[in-house]
Amino acid sequence: MAPTVVLECTQCGGLLLAAKTQKTRCCPYCNAKVDLKKAKRLASAESAMEASEILRKLKAQRQNNSRKPKPT
Ligand SMILES: [Zn+2]
Repeated sequence: MAPTVVLECTQCGGLLLAAKTQKTRCCPYCNAKVDLKKAKRLASAESAMEASEILRKLKAQRQNNSRKPKPT
């Protein structure tokens, strides 16, 4: 399996996966064409399976963060 990176969409900040060799990736959330060089790379993995596991954890973390009460 190809090395895979976890990226943040430059348009909407959504999390997406891409092969390390890919140059652009279409965001599944906002349909933007994401330039992988410009996008923020959150993690890299040896395989797509590992990357999706990381993606799952990052999504769970984000949900936890948004559930926290905002400081007033
Ligand atoms: Zn997006």
